[in-house]
Amino acid sequence: MARLTARRRHLTMTVVSVLLLAATIPGCVAMATEDSGKPERTQGMSPSGSGTDGSSGTGRGSGTIGTGGGSGTGGSPGAAWSVGVDGKPGVSGTPSSPLPSSSPSPPERVSAELTHGSESPGKAVNLTIDDGPEPGWTVKVLDVLRKNGATATFCIIGSRAKEYPALVKKVVAAGHRLCDHSVDHNVAMDKRSESYQRQQVLDARKMIEDAAGAGVKVPYYRAPGGAFTPYSREVAASHGMRPLGWNVDTRDWQNPGTDKIVATVKRELHEGPTILFHDGGGNRGQTVAALEELLPWLKEQGYAFGYPTIR
Ligand SMILES: [Zn+2]
Repeated sequence: MARLTARRRHLTMTVVSVLLLAATIPGCVAMATEDSGKPERTQGMSPSGSGTDGSSGTGRGSGTIGTGGGSGTGGSPGAAWSVGVDGKPGVSGTPSSPLPSSSPSPPERVSAELTHGSESPGKAVNLTIDDGPEPGWTVKVLDVLRKNGATATFCIIGSRAKEYPALVKKVVAAGHRLCDHSVDHNVAMDKRSESYQRQQVLDARKMIEDAAGAGVKVPYYRAPGGAFTPYSREVAASHGMRPLGWNVDTRDWQNPGTDKIVATVKRELHEGPTILFHDGGGNRGQTVAALEELLPWLKEQGYAFGYPTIR
């Protein structure tokens, strides 16, 4: 852990400009995370909507920094994080195109627009779990999902997948999908060169696939902190990974309290089906407790657990 922290810290240092922008919180860089993804919240559901970059624009700017701002980040253990990845088991693929598990050919190209919708035709939510795998927490999250018969999409950080391949395999074995969350979770990667962005997207995909095992595909890409760019979305899409946004940001990584996480979901669910949680970046006890409460509630409300649309 110490080594990792050091590495991330080093990475963070290299992104000085970002820090300056963030005005602060080194930690923020890390966790902040997926706030940005949200930009799309509004346009989220529309296929083309979102802003194009999904990214940053909104998200990052406001979301992340704003939110994470102060304490959140810094205070949180996860502060040191900078990565994020998610997983996926593309294997199951979508009904329309089953992502062959043993195809030697490159993945089929998918849309480069951010996706927020659900493949499920009826009332459904897409649970997305970011920044793992994390020893201890990932398994706890998997347990809650299993007890409730829920499926999710795990946005995995490439470097973490390389470090904990057994956890990635557990995610896949449980039937969940994987999402590429970059190699290092640098939430300022949208300010870096195209070659850097390409490396972060594609190397992470390779790391996740290697950890997951033969035949497992990664059908989504979510930029850390929502730091998408038109270029990185294109790179992901051309390699079979649909850029993945979110509609509801629980901000669970800030450890706001279990009740608050639960309330945020209930209050913002009308914005769209894709909900953002984390299994990495620090102590996720509140996340696990919130899921224990939310999953039964969602079922009572008639929601099914689905996956984000890929094509
Ligand atoms: Zn993340």
